[in-house]
Amino acid sequence: MLYLDNSATTKIHSEVLEAMLPYLQEEYGNPSSKFYSLAENAKKAVSMAREQVAHLLGCDPDEVVFTSGATESNNMIIKGVADYYGYNEDASKYLLTSAAEHPSVLETFEFLGERGYTAHFLDVDSFARVNVQNVATVVNQEQPLLTSIMWGNNEVGSLNPIDELSRLFATNGLFFHTDATQVIGKVPVDLRKLSGIRFLSMSGHKIGGPKGVGAAIIRKQSKEIYTRLTPLLHGGGQENNYRSGTLAVHNIVGLGKAAELASQNLENNTQRLTQLENYLIDILKTNLGDKITFNSDTHDKIPGLISLQFIGVNNELLLKKLSSFIALSSGSACSSSKPSHVLSASGKSLEEVRQTIRITLSADVNERELDLFREIK
Ligand code: PMP
Repeated sequence: MLYLDNSATTKIHSEVLEAMLPYLQEEYGNPSSKFYSLAENAKKAVSMAREQVAHLLGCDPDEVVFTSGATESNNMIIKGVADYYGYNEDASKYLLTSAAEHPSVLETFEFLGERGYTAHFLDVDSFARVNVQNVATVVNQEQPLLTSIMWGNNEVGSLNPIDELSRLFATNGLFFHTDATQVIGKVPVDLRKLSGIRFLSMSGHKIGGPKGVGAAIIRKQSKEIYTRLTPLLHGGGQENNYRSGTLAVHNIVGLGKAAELASQNLENNTQRLTQLENYLIDILKTNLGDKITFNSDTHDKIPGLISLQFIGVNNELLLKKLSSFIALSSGSACSSSKPSHVLSASGKSLEEVRQTIRITLSADVNERELDLFREIK
C-alpha cells in the first residue's frame, strides 16, 4: 500500500518511537513531583523537548505550551485571548479570520460569534489565500482583538503571505495567531524574524511524531512579561498555568524528537518533496493532460501537497477504486463527510469539489512507487 495522505497524519519516525519508549516503561515519573530521580528525569525530558520545539520554531523554551494537538492549541489561543482580553468592557469584540481555515479555527470563531463577539471570515482567492491589503483594511477599520490566519492550507497547500502579515501586526501591535500545523518541517519557520506572530499552533503527528500532542506557542510581550490567556483547562497549574493536567511525558518527548529531526532535515526534506512532486506532476500531466486541473499555485505552496480535480470523475469513486493500493483523500480528513469549505470559499462549484483529490507525499516515497500513477488513465 502506497501511503500518500501525509497531511492527514504521518507514520511515527523510528527514532521518535525509540526516544519515547523509556518514558512509557522505566521512566514513568510525574514531572510535577519533587526530589526523587524518576520525577527529575521526567522533568529533564520535558525540558529538553521544550528546547527542541523552541529551536525548531525560533522562540524561547518558555514560550512553548504542550497541548494535545493543534485542535487544542487553536481552541486554547482563540478562546483564551477572547476571554482574557475581551472580558474588559472597553475591549474590541471583533475577531478576524479567513474562510479557508481548519475547522478547529472556524468552529471556534463561530462559537464565539454566538457569545457576544463579532466573528468575521475574510474571503480568499481561488487558491484559498487571503489578500494582505484586504486584511490591512479590515484590521485598520475594526482593530480586532485577535486575527487568526493559517500559514499553509491543509486542503490545497497554498501558503498565505506570512511575512507581510507578520509585518502588519508587528507595526500595529494587535494580536495575530497563525495555525502552522501543515508547514512545520516543510518551510523554514523562524519566529525571531516574524515578530508580528504572537501565537502559533502546531501538531506532533504531522511531522513524524505521535498523535495526541502538539504545542501552542505564546510569545512573551517582552523578556519578562508573559502574554496571558484564560486557560481551557483549570487545575494544577502545569505549563505556566496555561494548561493544567499531568504532562504526557512520552508524547512530549516524541514531539521534541520529531521537532529535532524536522529542523535537522528541513532542507533535505523540502528538496526531496519538491523533486517527488515535480516527478508526479509530470506523470499526471503526461497521462491525463486536460482531464485534470490543479487547485494551488505552483509557487508559494507546501512542498509535497498536490490538490487536483479529475474533470468529470467523482472523487469518492476514484478513491475507493484506488484504495487497495494507494491511500489518498478527497481533502481534509477532519471534515471529509462535508463538501470542502476551503474549495467552496475558493470559488469552486460543488461539482468541482466532488472531483477533487489530495495527494500528500512523504520524503521516503520513491519514484518507482509513484510510477503507479501511470496506470491511471
Ligand atoms: N490545523 C490544521 C491546518 C490541520 O491540518 C490539522 C489536522 N488536520 C489541525 C489543525 C488539527 O490538528 P490535530 O490533529 O493535532 O488536532
